[in-house]
Amino acid sequence: MTKHQTVDLDWENLGFEYMDLPYRYRAFWKDGAWHKAGLTEDSTVAMNEGSPVLHYGQAAFEGLKAYRCKDGSVNLFRPDQNAKRLQNSCKRLLMPEVPEEMFVDALKQVVKANEAYVPPYGTGATLYLRPYIIGVGENIGVHPASEYIFSVFAMPVGSYFKGGMVPTNFVASDYDRAAHKGTGASKVGGNYAASLYPGEKAHKAGFSDAIYLDPVEHRKIEEVGSANFFGITKDGKFVTPKSPSILPSVTKYSLLYLAKERFGMEAVEGDVYVDELDNFAEAGACGTAAVISPIGGFQVGDDFHVFYSTTEVGPVTKKLYDELVGIQFGDRPAPEGWIVKAVEA
Ligand SMILES: *Cc1c(COP(=O)(O)O)cnc(C)c1O
Repeated sequence: MTKHQTVDLDWENLGFEYMDLPYRYRAFWKDGAWHKAGLTEDSTVAMNEGSPVLHYGQAAFEGLKAYRCKDGSVNLFRPDQNAKRLQNSCKRLLMPEVPEEMFVDALKQVVKANEAYVPPYGTGATLYLRPYIIGVGENIGVHPASEYIFSVFAMPVGSYFKGGMVPTNFVASDYDRAAHKGTGASKVGGNYAASLYPGEKAHKAGFSDAIYLDPVEHRKIEEVGSANFFGITKDGKFVTPKSPSILPSVTKYSLLYLAKERFGMEAVEGDVYVDELDNFAEAGACGTAAVISPIGGFQVGDDFHVFYSTTEVGPVTKKLYDELVGIQFGDRPAPEGWIVKAVEA
């Protein structure tokens, strides 16, 4: 077998669908420690019917990708950031933290074991990794579980933009996904349960997704259902909202850094009022899944605001996208510590 062999899949036409790959990582927490950590071929999770995850949503997750480089090696992008964010989510839901070293080791094991499913370089496709932790065990009262399962599974996913980057339209939601002192800043299941209904409403009305406004006054942009918001002002600043109910996106913080350090832009977290959208020349949604998706139009009440264009990506958004994706696939130099090799060349 030659090195870095891949299975035969239609890499160019992958979507974002679950796929039952050969291996996943699993570890069990009981009596104050992680046990029985390692790979398994079992894609089902067995648990007691009283498990808190089933009734009270004691669950947190992460999402990141593995990227095949030109030389055959496989990159992870800033996995330490996902490890830290999962630890914060665990703290918020009273779950045991997964040590960073164990987290990154689990990712590497899953990528290596399923290496044949890491899409070839040049297809734009990647291996999506889904770590999660759930509270399990006999329990029915509203209190934290006594046992936990931490697992990581993977699936190949397609390039978000098949025919090039195309802007899509979004709508301001009347609903809130999270409160300022709630769980918006934690990547926990309940936030997503809360967003299903407003998300479905947005899709049915023909929009890509809902954009949530601040839960206090509904005057400022918070974020998209599963991606953060950013805008490029007419005077060239990179601006992204700041709020305690926004999920801190690794992609967003990476773009803040690149805008400032590589492109010399002023890059700030601040308020983005929906009645001041004329200040922006471009806007986009950013996250691991969305990468950078240009926002064409934004419906707020009766007003349909167009940022750059509903058919073409703006120049600054494109420049940031090329830099970010170039770093992830190993084609452009990465800032110190951003790339961790899961598989060597
Ligand atoms: C995961 C997530 C994001 C994106 O975060 P990344 O670390 O960039 O993938 C943005 N918003 C929400 C609500 C999320 O759950």
